[in-house]
Amino acid sequence: MLVVLKPGTSETAAADAITRLRMAGLAVHRTEFESRVRIAAVGDTSAMDWNEVASWASVESVAKLARPFKLASRAFHPHDTVISVGRVAIGGPQLAIMAGPCSVEGEEQVFTIAKAVAEAGATVMRGGAYKPRTSPYAFQGLGEEGLKLLRRAADAHGLAVVSEVMEPQLVTLLARYCDILQIGARNMQNYALLREVGHTEKPVLLKRGLSSTIEEWLLSAEHVMAQGNRQVILCERGIRTFETYTRNTLDLNAVPVVKELSHLPVIVDPSHGTGIRDKVAPMARAAIAAGADGLMIEVHHDPDRALSDGAQSLYPAQFTELVQQIRTIAEVLGRTV
Ligand code: PEP
Ligand code: MN
Repeated sequence: MLVVLKPGTSETAAADAITRLRMAGLAVHRTEFESRVRIAAVGDTSAMDWNEVASWASVESVAKLARPFKLASRAFHPHDTVISVGRVAIGGPQLAIMAGPCSVEGEEQVFTIAKAVAEAGATVMRGGAYKPRTSPYAFQGLGEEGLKLLRRAADAHGLAVVSEVMEPQLVTLLARYCDILQIGARNMQNYALLREVGHTEKPVLLKRGLSSTIEEWLLSAEHVMAQGNRQVILCERGIRTFETYTRNTLDLNAVPVVKELSHLPVIVDPSHGTGIRDKVAPMARAAIAAGADGLMIEVHHDPDRALSDGAQSLYPAQFTELVQQIRTIAEVLGRTV
């Protein structure tokens, strides 16, 4: 349920309303909009007499939060959520450009790519140190050594760091090196992992599952938010369909749909979304035109020798050209890079 308090309600009266809802066994989350405290009361709402709640002196209105996701919904929090990561604000007018290799492979590789993407205009460096590989015999990542390299390379070029965490036990370790914790598509419904990142204070980049609906994706965001961490960035990375020409089908419909349903920032990963280098730039341009708050792009200076996802990695020069084009598109939309 959504309980909106009257403007000017004192903190004491707000705290009192919250306590009374908690006493009914409900989990209570608050936000503010247009000078009003808004309270989402979630759980078994049937035990409460909502007509009585509506009659409390501090209460302006009571309404049902109709969607299954509550904290992630725009009905609860009407304003766009803007997530600050160092000098980057994700979800505001400036687009977030995240770029880097699929996997961290070594010092020279990661420093070369960090320099290239920073010069091109990226503000966040990506790179996997723990890799979810379809085959157990494929390169699994450099682990903590990779995180150290990624952090050093990013710091050398003023970039924030995003990297994937695959296991609840590794969340604390990843949080030491990263500014943003990435939940990969394969783990979108790993609820133990979602809970664990929900207990941190790090922004979470939540990729859409390979075969997940938009509602399932937003419910996964809800799992993180219900633990107290409201800093979730959604990332559309393509879904599995009957089409085989591209690696996945990039669902750009999801961008305007999620923007309406949720206040969370949405970025797009056209690298995994297409799997084909020369299809990445057109879909990146389309994503920004569709209203995405940013991009995640795989870049490699020697993709033929990349240990993962070389075929979808842009050369640095291609990435530079793409960012220029994104700047032009952003301008039309009143945004910046
Ligand atoms: C990645 O970002 O390298 C990755 C493995 O992505 P996804 O989880 O979208 O497949
Ligand atoms: Mn990859």
